[in-house]
Amino acid sequence: MYSFTHHAASSVADAVKSVGEGKYLAGGHTLIPTMKQRLAQPGHLVDLNKVAELKGISDNGSVLTIKAMSRHAEVASSDVVKKAIPGLAALAGGIGDPQVRHRGTIGGSVANNDPVADYPAACLALGATIVTDRRRIKADDFFQGLFTTALEDNELITAFEFPHADKFAYAKFRNPASLYALVGVAVAKRGSDVRVAVTGAGSDGVFRWTDAEAKLASNFSASALDGLKASASGLNGDIHGSAEYRAHLIGVMAKRAAAAA
Ligand SMILES: Cc1cc2nc3c(=O)[nH]c(=O)nc-3n(C[C@H](O)[C@H](O)[C@H](O)COP(=O)(O)OP(=O)(O)OC[C@H]3O[C@@H](n4cnc5c(N)ncnc54)[C@H](O)[C@@H]3O)c2cc1C
Repeated sequence: MYSFTHHAASSVADAVKSVGEGKYLAGGHTLIPTMKQRLAQPGHLVDLNKVAELKGISDNGSVLTIKAMSRHAEVASSDVVKKAIPGLAALAGGIGDPQVRHRGTIGGSVANNDPVADYPAACLALGATIVTDRRRIKADDFFQGLFTTALEDNELITAFEFPHADKFAYAKFRNPASLYALVGVAVAKRGSDVRVAVTGAGSDGVFRWTDAEAKLASNFSASALDGLKASASGLNGDIHGSAEYRAHLIGVMAKRAAAAA
């Protein structure tokens, strides 16, 4: 590892003021390996782990708020999350392994926008709002491509607001080597509005599958998706699975999510 300076921020204001050309450090599960491989070489890290304002989970009866430094394990085991949006707790419980779940944070995951991460699908399907130190960003506007988001330089995610849904579930086909999603599909229903979000498959990252949304809006059941095929165009193909295989998995995972919801 090369040398860098480390500042343990005491507040959101302190973090934003001191980051400069550096980077925020949350769970470090992506950032530290990236630095070890010299894929990123920030000279300064602003550690968010002691910022109390970035911790906590609450619900007001219609909106679930999860602060950015909430670990995946905290979301998975939270009674507040289980009551408000049980499928979101289940999603968090399926991320990585216990070590990853006890270090990785929702803020780090969504800021990173890895195309195979789980949370982006939940944010998009549930129509979450990403709250930062300076504004509120709709999930529809937030995810802008591979590892690319609407965040500006030094912008800090402070919390996520998830409006309750009538139904929500996430189904994931795991890559057995990395534990990330080979394909993951999140399905949410709120009144007549249905949203289906796909992660792991798209070469531009998470996306909505509008054909499935239309089918589920008229009949919210797994069988409504019978015969519907996702297009392989624009999907990733690699040693783990071709674009056609991922397209097939999208249909299978969407059905599983609809059935679970
Ligand atoms: C072996 C392994 C398996 C994994 N499996 C899965 C999986 O199955 N599914 C899945 O979704 N993920 C998986 N992950 C990813 C993991 O869960 C973390 O979510 C991810 O590494 C990023 O979160 P972090 O808290 O570690 O962020 P960090 O690594 O600390 O930061 C990541 C990036 O986000 C920035 N950042 C962090 N917090 C904020 C913030 N609040 N505001 C703005 N920018 C911020 C940092 O500057 C950095 O650029 C896996 C990771 C590993 C190592």
